[in-house]
Amino acid sequence: MPESQSGPVIYAAGTLMPVSSPPIQDGAVLVREGRIEAVGPLSEVGRENPDAEVRFFPNYTMTPGAVNAHAHLGFRHEDAPEGGAFSGWLGRLIERLPEKEAWTAEAASESAREAVEAGTTYMAESSPYGECLPQLAESGMAGTVFAEFFPHEIGTPEQAVEFIVGKACGLQEGLPERVDARVSVHSPYTVDPESARLAARRTREMGWRLAIHLSESPEEVEFIRDGTGGLADIFGSNEWGGVGVSPVRYARGVELLAPETIAAHLATGVSEEDMEVLLQTGVAAAHCPRSNEFLGCGVSPVPRMIERGIRVGMGTDGLWSSPSMNLFEETLFAVELHSLSGAAGLQLATLGGARSLGIEAETGTIEVGKWADLALVEISPGEGDPEREVIEAAAGGGGVATVVAGDVIYNRLGG
Ligand SMILES: [Zn+2]
Repeated sequence: MPESQSGPVIYAAGTLMPVSSPPIQDGAVLVREGRIEAVGPLSEVGRENPDAEVRFFPNYTMTPGAVNAHAHLGFRHEDAPEGGAFSGWLGRLIERLPEKEAWTAEAASESAREAVEAGTTYMAESSPYGECLPQLAESGMAGTVFAEFFPHEIGTPEQAVEFIVGKACGLQEGLPERVDARVSVHSPYTVDPESARLAARRTREMGWRLAIHLSESPEEVEFIRDGTGGLADIFGSNEWGGVGVSPVRYARGVELLAPETIAAHLATGVSEEDMEVLLQTGVAAAHCPRSNEFLGCGVSPVPRMIERGIRVGMGTDGLWSSPSMNLFEETLFAVELHSLSGAAGLQLATLGGARSLGIEAETGTIEVGKWADLALVEISPGEGDPEREVIEAAAGGGGVATVVAGDVIYNRLGG
């Protein structure tokens, strides 16, 4: 396959899984100027578009590209801090930030490459002050980099929020069409309540999406409720904990929760009452089960959240808390953890992520009008649970080509 296309192209596979509609045998996608113009059996789409170039992969399955709803690019496989208690891991990570500067950019390129080769077409990345934006932009993926800020390093809450909003505005310049920069309020234990509140208000005024980490570890629950534990001393001493409520209720109190907010983890201490708050405020969740396991953060009540109507997507987190940047591998872990069907898993990995990020009109399924964001997987699934077979194949390195807006950004098949 050539690197990019000019005239209309038909991408076709032995099995096409649009996610928004049932699988199609020998299914085809007509792509013109990056967008999907028709979806159907190859025999029909080919007949109606005789001028289009046809690229047919009979022994493969084509799905929407994976949408990674929560990732960090700037980490690497080797020398990860050991897992276990969250605050210990975070403390070791912070100790190593100075030495990490030397290799963060290289790690980000490598993490992005790994994601692309695993069929990822959209990534929501969070990094300090947006430091991994260049590597996301160069990867060919579409996505958003959420610039994390740490107010204690900057000044007053007003100064800190002005700084990070200005930083995100500056980062927007010269980006590819489908890459942008936004703001992340890192967590309830690193950002003080006034800075969190101001950042939430400012970004919402601008119509921006906001990323946060929320209710991740038992220590976060303890810090917010009682003001004690390992996270009370992170970055010196944090004095705003001990408010007697759950992290979700605290986050609502500082106005962080809204339909524009994507909350990563929601792994520990999320009660039915908390889920009611999440539902009422319209906040979306990014599920990172392998990171949660590595850091002793429990199991997010994802089936119950989905049942209640909370939007959920999947996230890999980064390589210092997770074994890979392969979102299908993350999803297979979730499918096994929660006993989900393959179809539910494939939906989480694609449309679920798009919905959680508010981009479902643009990507997440193979439907007319959306960008042609596609993953080609080396598998001819059988009758039992074909979507699960596809997830397993993609999790195990079966991704062979990745297409973003009609452009082939990864192709292991050659040609
Ligand atoms: Zn994270």
